Amino acid sequence: MSDRKVRVRFAPSPTGALHIGGVRTALYNYLFARQHGGDLIFRIEDTDSNRFVPGAEEYIIESFRWLGIKFDEGVSFGGEYGPYRQSERRDIYKKHVDVLMKTGRAYIAFDTPEELDAKRKEVANFQYDASTRMGMRNSLTLPKEEVDALIAEGKQYVVRFKIEPNEEVHVHDIIRGEVIVNSSVLDDKVLYKSADELPTYHLANIVDDHLMEVSHVIRGEEWLPSAPLHVLLYRAFGWEDTMPEFAHLPLLLKPDGNGKLSKRDGDRLGFPVFPLEWHDPKSGDVSSGYRESGYLPEAVINFLALLGWNPGNNQEIMSIDELVQLFDLKHCSKAGAKFDYEKGKWFNHEYIMKKDNTELAELFMPILKANGIEAPMDKVVTVVGLMKDRVSFVKDLWETCKFFFVAPTEYDEKTRKKRWKEDSPAHMLELADFLEALEDFSVENQEKAVMAWIAEKGYHLGNVMNAFRLTLVGEGKGPHIFDITGVLGKEESLRRIRRAVEVLK
Ligand code: GLU
Repeated sequence: MSDRKVRVRFAPSPTGALHIGGVRTALYNYLFARQHGGDLIFRIEDTDSNRFVPGAEEYIIESFRWLGIKFDEGVSFGGEYGPYRQSERRDIYKKHVDVLMKTGRAYIAFDTPEELDAKRKEVANFQYDASTRMGMRNSLTLPKEEVDALIAEGKQYVVRFKIEPNEEVHVHDIIRGEVIVNSSVLDDKVLYKSADELPTYHLANIVDDHLMEVSHVIRGEEWLPSAPLHVLLYRAFGWEDTMPEFAHLPLLLKPDGNGKLSKRDGDRLGFPVFPLEWHDPKSGDVSSGYRESGYLPEAVINFLALLGWNPGNNQEIMSIDELVQLFDLKHCSKAGAKFDYEKGKWFNHEYIMKKDNTELAELFMPILKANGIEAPMDKVVTVVGLMKDRVSFVKDLWETCKFFFVAPTEYDEKTRKKRWKEDSPAHMLELADFLEALEDFSVENQEKAVMAWIAEKGYHLGNVMNAFRLTLVGEGKGPHIFDITGVLGKEESLRRIRRAVEVLK
């Protein structure tokens, strides 16, 4: 790598919710920037006014805030290279278009959409390029006076890039190696449209990467076909010395591996493809998000990091700081990465297990409240500590832990048939009396005392414990029984045993 300061950018177009693949692109840029002590820029590429969607920019910013991906400069973050919203940089682009016009690297074209359509019908595989441009209506074929007159008249035009045919264009891609394309396959791309006085993506993207001193362009594979054109634009401006290095990331594929992961796959298979819930302002459709589905941001980060990259060994659980240490663009795969949603759930489970019980309890509290439960913090902390290994999502804690907060009113029929024996009522009443007399109700002491009591009475250990569990939980599940009574406390435990005997007798 050159000794140039690392400056990378994430440059979304605000056309809707940010797809999870875009989040991965931003993450890789973030990891790369942090690792090299560089800067991460947030640029909004909003030159296509037809595709602008209100709220998209705010949505993208909020997504990264939630995920903990921090930008050093850009829209809403400030910085020395602004403005960072392309719609606010019109003059800059216009100036650069003029430069290309003056140096003969671009020309004005007046062909209307209808004329272009007619040509496409007439000429098979028509492409606006060196082989056809001299038969079109543009500043290369029309007399200068006519061009000036048409512009003065207010006729709409575009500016096209004049691509020299039969040149080898080399794109150095960190992931894909050397990509070589013959310039003849490229068309004279539109760089600017008089209709809205705005540049197209290609021109704005290159001008900004240059002016913002971008050192590496890390982006999705779908942009690889644009890269040769971008290389030619850098050259046309005489900026080859500051040409960024490219890295085109592998596609995210459908779970079955056939084709690109789309929003529809998420709807079809029931998983989010967006970081946050998205309310489409036009259609009113609501699409689910990772945040609202109960994912921890650190789990999403870890999961995404491994879609297209791995640390070269089997390590899977990595914090964002570890990822910064380990990430390497050279270890990104060329082949698409299959989106394995079950793996995403697994990551969330792992991060729930790792999470501090107090933090987890804080996340669980609002769910308890929503279910009408007011419980002291220390109780909730103990409960999540006992139960977190059983869930993949915080929201699942409710069904799993409910019995700690709500006494059973019904008893699972199957468990009752199997576990509630003829002598169970008598044993349970005896047990309740025994526990009532117990002064030290700590988990350890209860366990010791009850075990001794069962042995002394000569009762069947399994039968007593199974019936005991049924009275406390209402079914056969749950953690260690004295962990349950420990949380419930003596009074509530006795109440549950005696009520169960009443009901089940
Ligand atoms: N505006 C493009 C996008 O929406 C940026 C592509 C690039 O990074 O060059 O992804």
